[in-house]
Amino acid sequence: NREIRLAARPSGEPSLSDFDLAATPVPQIGDGQVLVRNTWMSVDPYMRGRMDDKESYILPFEIGRPLDGSAVGEVVASRAGEIPVGATVVHFAGWREYAAVDAPHATVVDPSLAPAEVYLGVLGTTGLTAYASLTDVAPVRQGDTVFVSAAAGAVGSVAGQLARKLGAARVIGSAGGPVKGRKLVTDFGYDVAIDYRAGSVAEQVRAAAPDGVDVYLDNVGGNHLAAAIDALNVGGRIAMVGAISAYNATEPVPGPANLFALAAKNATLRGMLINYYFHLFPEWIGKAAGWLADGSLRAETTVAEGLERAPQAFLDVLSGGNVGKMLVKL
Ligand code: NDP
Repeated sequence: NREIRLAARPSGEPSLSDFDLAATPVPQIGDGQVLVRNTWMSVDPYMRGRMDDKESYILPFEIGRPLDGSAVGEVVASRAGEIPVGATVVHFAGWREYAAVDAPHATVVDPSLAPAEVYLGVLGTTGLTAYASLTDVAPVRQGDTVFVSAAAGAVGSVAGQLARKLGAARVIGSAGGPVKGRKLVTDFGYDVAIDYRAGSVAEQVRAAAPDGVDVYLDNVGGNHLAAAIDALNVGGRIAMVGAISAYNATEPVPGPANLFALAAKNATLRGMLINYYFHLFPEWIGKAAGWLADGSLRAETTVAEGLERAPQAFLDVLSGGNVGKMLVKL
């Protein structure tokens, strides 16, 4: 058994030396636990926050201890009556090859509905984040113009396709570089792609949305949030989902200078944490599994092979080395 441990807390951008690969015995399971052989694990931008020693909605990683996070795997031993050997389960003990998991913390999923790894992406929290954001936090209405940042990533690649299904008339996505931009339009449901590295985001959003923006799903913060507020229509809605442009910041980052424009626009800016939307999982999985099966929803992934590649995969997701959901295949 191998696991990845936190070796050091980064200041600013993390690096490979912040992680250790360690060999450890396969864990013993106790009553009420299952032993899971992990087959896939997730690397996510929010994990950057857990590398810092600071108070948040989730505990920081501990130096010298294995990291954790979403994973899916096969139950190879069970001392929990409700979960048989052979079941496919999603749980939170990733960053290791074998995990002892308390049965209540293991969710049995149906691998005949979709491949196991899809439960870490479209049928997992990132897909649900797009769904909750565009149906509840900042609901899309028929004919809306919708703008999404980090549009080629896990949340964004679903959000574009979903906005279209929810009746948006125009869907605008921002991503880094022309290759991702093309992908937004050909594969992820976007009408227009903005390359935020190629020029002013505010000017590009204005040009892409001449009639203004009704809904903005913010994955990035910073200049993207300011540009969306600037282009927002009266009654516009913003879902504050992520602020990846600030995750490596070493000093507090000020909010957008035009924040008060929301008042004159009678607009809503609403934060969201996906943990408060898990009740929507059955509804979302029901819809999304059907769309995956009929080919109208694309589940794109970028895959790194081997546990030892997980730290690099994590660094890559922070710097844009992924299209769709970034995953590690163990
Ligand atoms: P992604 O798959 O979108 O990966 C992150 C992407 O962010 C990269 O691919 C990169 O794409 C982009 N990016 C990195 N730095 C910057 C920058 N400075 N400016 C603009 N874009 C940048 O990750 P997820 O889909 O998993 O997550 C997207 C966002 O949503 C994150 O901020 C995450 O923390 C947040 N999130 C929040 C949740 C919640 O409950 N609130 C739940 C899930 C995710 P590019 O090449 O385009 O730069």
